[in-house]
Amino acid sequence: MSEKTVEGFGTIINDLEDEGHWLAVLASMRPYQAKPRQYSVTTLIAPTQPVHLKRTRWQDVAVNASNLLFRLDGISHHALFEPLVRPHVKTEVALKIERVIDEKPAWISGRLDEVEEVEPGKVVIRDRKKMKVYGAIKGITPENEGQLNLYAHVYDEMYGTETVGLQIVGFLSDFTKTKTNKRWAAMKRNGKRAIKLFDSADEAGSWIEAQNDKHLLFIETREPNYPESQEFVADVPLWPKDKTEAFMLERLRLHLAPEPLPCSPDERWNGNRCKHYCDVAGICPQYNKEHTT
Ligand code: SF4
Repeated sequence: MSEKTVEGFGTIINDLEDEGHWLAVLASMRPYQAKPRQYSVTTLIAPTQPVHLKRTRWQDVAVNASNLLFRLDGISHHALFEPLVRPHVKTEVALKIERVIDEKPAWISGRLDEVEEVEPGKVVIRDRKKMKVYGAIKGITPENEGQLNLYAHVYDEMYGTETVGLQIVGFLSDFTKTKTNKRWAAMKRNGKRAIKLFDSADEAGSWIEAQNDKHLLFIETREPNYPESQEFVADVPLWPKDKTEAFMLERLRLHLAPEPLPCSPDERWNGNRCKHYCDVAGICPQYNKEHTT
């Protein structure tokens, strides 16, 4: 089985059948040298432990290529929007500002998907995501709020603008049109099955069985909040500047502390992140302690 070491990430083991997939995964990886005391916005909002492990022990990390295939989806999705030219819209904007923590400089960096100048000096910031229907139903998360408010804070400081709106623009990759919020009724009439679609959905729940004198009637109501379209657009609450500044400094201090914090149950997605989605699980003391005791 072949493998390849990518600086700053770790060793990728080829467990894929198709050579094209393997090469595409490798092409999606960029060697990375973490700059001391510099954190991107996405890193800043991440739990401190995986960030610390990746920065200090990336040489010990090993990940199967099959676990990295999902990256191709996000990269190709972003590549579609990056070159689109529109008046007053900038894409892929590099960000960096400085703060002083414990009397030493530290930096917050990032890359913004999209900024639109809606009137002189006023901007709307957009983050584009390829996401699942589940995420759209869940709606805006605290992580989304933190991330977009940090982008706005850094952008406004660099460009002297005022952010007046924040948006998540998502493409729902697993959207199924037949699952939109409709009611279906299937009934047996004289031994034959008939199906009828109702436009309104006023009842939640799954199958409801009803019996009337002639028919056996089943009504299925779909997920009541299932999106109507494959496009997800949501406004993210804009924080006051002092709240974002305090949040940014707090996250910087936590990441710069000599030891990271253990991940909380929320950060571990109740164990799912550790088992399936964390690149550093193999070298994580918190996770491995639980599995050896
Ligand atoms: S394996 Fe779990 S506990 Fe360890 S860093 Fe990853 S998410 Fe956190």
